Formats: sequence, C-alpha cells, structure tokens
Amino acid sequence: MLRHIAILGSTGSIGTQALEVIAAHPDKFIVEVLTAQRNADLLIEQAKKFQPNVVVIGDESRYSEVKEALAQEPIKVFAGEKSLAEVVTMESIHIVLTALVGYAGLIPTMRAIQAGKHIALANKETLVVAGDLVSQAARDHRVDILPVDSEHSAIFQCLAGEMDQKIEKIILTASGGPFRGKKREDLSKVTKAQALKHPNWSMGAKITIDSASMMNKGLEVIEAKWLFDLSPDQIEVIVHPQSIIHSLVQFEDGSIKAQLGLPDMKLPIQYALAYPHRIALETPRFSFTQYPSLTFEEPDPVTFRNLALAYEALKKGGNMACILNAANEVVVEAFLQDRVGFLEMSDLIEKSMQSLPFLAEPTLEDYMETDQETRKFVQNLL
Ligand code: NAD
Ligand code: MG
Repeated sequence: MLRHIAILGSTGSIGTQALEVIAAHPDKFIVEVLTAQRNADLLIEQAKKFQPNVVVIGDESRYSEVKEALAQEPIKVFAGEKSLAEVVTMESIHIVLTALVGYAGLIPTMRAIQAGKHIALANKETLVVAGDLVSQAARDHRVDILPVDSEHSAIFQCLAGEMDQKIEKIILTASGGPFRGKKREDLSKVTKAQALKHPNWSMGAKITIDSASMMNKGLEVIEAKWLFDLSPDQIEVIVHPQSIIHSLVQFEDGSIKAQLGLPDMKLPIQYALAYPHRIALETPRFSFTQYPSLTFEEPDPVTFRNLALAYEALKKGGNMACILNAANEVVVEAFLQDRVGFLEMSDLIEKSMQSLPFLAEPTLEDYMETDQETRKFVQNLL
C-alpha cells in the first residue's frame, strides 16, 4: 500500500535525505506535504519534483514568491506557523516526518498525533520538552512514534520481536564529536568553525553544535526515556568514535543486541517510513576488515557538562527538561552568532535550570510558557 507522507522541514538535512528515500521507492511512498522555514528556492524545486498536495513556507514574507513560482502547479501554498499545525491534520496523510528543528516541532507534532497520524520522529526536542504529554497523546490516539534518530532507531531495530521482553538497560553510543578528549582549558576559545566540523555526520547547524557540546547526547538520553519507557539509571552513554555501532540493548538475561552499519541517516529514516518492513537501500556496505578496531570510552561529563545537566533534568522531571532545551536553543543560536563562548553555553543553561520556576506536572500551556520565559531569561543574560 502506498504511504502518504508529510515532511515538516523538507529542506533540511533529514528532510532532503527523506526525499531521496522516497524518490528511490515511488511505488511505496507519495509526498503529501512539504514545509520549510526560509529556503523558498529549494522548497519550490522540491514541490515541482514531488508534486505534493500542499506546501507551507514558515516565513510569511516568502509566501508570494512560493505562490507565484507554483502558480501553474496543482499545489496549494500556505504560510506561517499556524498553517503548519493545520496541514498535518489533512485526511490523506498517513505519516508525518518531523524533520524540523527545535521547539517549533512541539505543536505540529501534537496536532498530528491528535489527528491520528503516525509520527516518524527526527525532531527530538519535542520529546525533550513535553515527552510525558506527547507519549500520552500517542497512546490515547493509538499512533506509533517511530524513531528516526539513529541511536533510537538502532534500539527500536534491536527490539523487533522483543517488545514484551524486559530491558535491563540501553547503551546509547556517542561519537564524541570534534572535541573528544579535550579538557575544559582546551575548550574555552574554540570557534564555531571548529565546532561545526563533525567527524562522522553531516547535519544541520543546531544539532552539529549540540554534538560538539554533548548536549545532543543529553537530549537523546531524555528522548530514549520517553520512547522506550525507561528510568534514568537504565540509560547509559558510551563514546564510540567510529559511529558504526548505533546503539545497544541489554536484556534481563545479560544478552546485548546491537545494530551496526556505516553512518548514514537514510537507513533510520527509511526504517521509520517503511516500518515494519525492510526495503532495499543502495548505500555503501560496512566491512569489518575496513574497521579492524571499534573502540569505546567513558564520556567525560566534567568537561562536557551538558550531559550531566540533561541527566539532572531527566531525574528532576516536570518542566526541567523544557527549561534545559529552551536555554540550549538560545545559547546555540548565540554561539553561532559569536555572542557567547563554547563553555559559557553550559553555564547559562545551568543558571536557567536553577532560576526558572519548577513545575512538577506541567500542562501544554505551562510548557509553552516555560519555553517563552526561559528564552527571555537567557536573552537578558547574553
Ligand atoms: P536542518 O537545520 O538541516 O533542517 C531543519 C528544517 O526545519 C529545514 O527544512 C528548515 O526550513 C525547517 N525549520 C527550521 N526552523 C523551523 C521553524 N521554526 N519552524 C518550521 N520549520 C523550521 O536540521 P536537521 O539536521 O535536518 O535536523 C532536523 C531535526 O532532526 C532536529 O531536531 C535534529 O535534532 C534531528 N536529527 C537530525 C539528524 C541529522 O543527521 N541531521 C540526526 C538525528 C536527529
Ligand atoms: Mg542521534
């Protein structure tokens, strides 16, 4: 059966790779919706090629440009944040791939779940901000949240056929990023150009900085809690610089399952879109003899404090991870604008976690307010 897909953030790193997967399997997937924030040129090009029903451009000042370029096509064009949250409810959609970045994913994801759409989730920030509400909504509306993040996809693949087995723990692998092995004194003066050079993955700017600061792994620990219903002490992180083992699950009998492959996001994207089927993927294959040593190291949460802060937020619960995420989004943007140093990012996040009001059982409105208040708080400190 043909699956009808909406891609939120189709012009980004995950979005463009998802379109490659879809283009390779026109008998299995059809594009229903494409959206982008600012990149009108690429959105127009994608729309002409994939002929979706609808496109949404987030930045309203680009609306007329997109509308005019697609005037001869049978494609509806909308603009703005509100449209994003509306189009995901379209009758014809089966799966919404959330490939947009940051907190902006929360409301459209919630709306899609409420409309009964399965979610292929790349946008981990949504689960970090409001994992309790999002996973409850998914249970209430009987929709699947299929992980796209490579580590979580690895765990999900290891759990195929094992869904009822008790998990002792999971082990998330981390590449260590460009600053692996560095100490605090080495990091005080690193530049954004250095931080943007990831050794194994080519990704959007925000997640690349998060990978350099280890916040990405922290966010993934929280993401794993909600996807697999685990407690913080069941989630371990190990640094594995080759990024070949994408993550592992240890069961009650001590058996460990791992998922391996060359680093390539097309596999986890495709696994989520085609689930529960495996379909062909033409990519270079992993060879053990080309990687005679796969190595492992303890993470260093003293140098990379973000990892420790994320565990702290997870243990504290309530709106603490929402505060962590909002503060992180602001400091990463500031770092990309050379307005804050690499190590100061963690200082500002920690300060936010100590200063913003803690709510033990937040509603969606509380999360929205926490996000806003935290952003204001950090902006004032910059
Ligand atoms: P990216 O920056 O390359 O692309 C982001 C996309 O979202 C673009 O299409 C952009 O137009 C759109 N967008 C940006 N801001 C928006 C907003 N406020 N509202 C609506 N749309 C907006 O990012 P990416 O690297 O593709 O990452 C996307 C998500 O996937 C992130 O949550 C990231 O953590 C996650 N992820 C990415 C990778 C990867 O390999 N790139 C791996 C795992 C998880
Ligand atoms: Mg990941």
